[in-house]
Amino acid sequence: MSAEFDGLVALVTGGASGIGLASALALEERGATVAVLDLNTEGLDARLHGFTADVSDRASVDAAVSAAAEKLGGIDIVVNNAGISAVGTVEENDDAEWARVLNINVIGMARVSAAAMPWLRQSEHAAIVNLCSIAALNGLPQRALYGASKGAVLALTYAMATDHVADGVRVNAVSPGTVSTPFVERMLQGFDDPVKERAALDARQATGRMVTPEEVAGAVAYLASPLSGSTTGTALEVDGGVAHLRVRK
Ligand code: NAD
Repeated sequence: MSAEFDGLVALVTGGASGIGLASALALEERGATVAVLDLNTEGLDARLHGFTADVSDRASVDAAVSAAAEKLGGIDIVVNNAGISAVGTVEENDDAEWARVLNINVIGMARVSAAAMPWLRQSEHAAIVNLCSIAALNGLPQRALYGASKGAVLALTYAMATDHVADGVRVNAVSPGTVSTPFVERMLQGFDDPVKERAALDARQATGRMVTPEEVAGAVAYLASPLSGSTTGTALEVDGGVAHLRVRK
C-alpha cells in the first residue's frame, strides 16, 4: 500500500525532542525519508537520519542542509520546528536575550528555508511548515519576547507563502497551545511553583488538558502532505480551544 509521503524527503529542525520528534516520526510512518537537524542527534531514533547543526549559525545550517539533501536525494518538505522558550517582561529580558531568542526562533527559520529553497523548487510536492504558537495571538503573561518571536514567525509564514507560491512551494504554520514536551517542563522550572503552574496550564485549556506532541504532529503532517495541496499562507491552531473558545467552568 502506498503512503502519503512515499518518495519524499523531509527535513525537520529540532527533531530530536518534543513536537519535532513526534513530527519526524509521523512523517516517517507515512512513508517519508526524514532528516533531523538538531544541536545534538546522538541516540536519535534509528528510523531518522541525524544531521548535527545549530539553526542560529548560517554556515552550520548551510552545511547540514546540503549534506542532508545530497545524502537523501533532495528535500521536499521542511518543518521549521527548532525553537526555544523565553520567560519575562520587557523589563526582565535584556538586549542579549532578545538577540539570542530571535536569532534561533525567527532568523533560524529563514536560514533553513533559504538553504533548502533550491531543492524545494525542484520538488513536485514542496511544503514548509513553521512552528508558531498561540503566544503570537494572545497576550500571555511573561511572554513578551517569546510572543514577539512567534508573531514574527506568523508574518514570516505569510510573506514566504507569497514569495514562493510561483516556485510551487507552499508555506503554512501550526500554532500549538501548551503542549506537554520537555520545552514546557523547562519553562515550568522558571516559575516559583512548577506543580501549581502545570495544573493551571491544564485548567486553562478549554479541553481541560494540555495538547500532546502527536496531536501537533498530525497537523504538521497534514500541512506537509499533498492532501493540503491548495493550502498556503495559513496557520492552523492546535490549542485545545484556547485561542477562540470562551468556555464557562
Ligand atoms: P523541545 O525543547 O522539546 O525541543 C526543541 C528541539 O529543538 C530540541 O531537540 C533542541 O535541541 C532543538 N534546538 C533548540 N535550539 C536549537 C538550535 N539552535 N539549533 C538546532 N536545534 C535546536 O521543544 P518543543 O516543545 O517540542 O517545541 C518545538 C517548537 O514548538 C518550538 O518552536 C516551540 O516554540 C513550539 N511550540 C511549543 C509549544 C509547547 O507548549 N511545547 C507551544 C507552542 C509552540
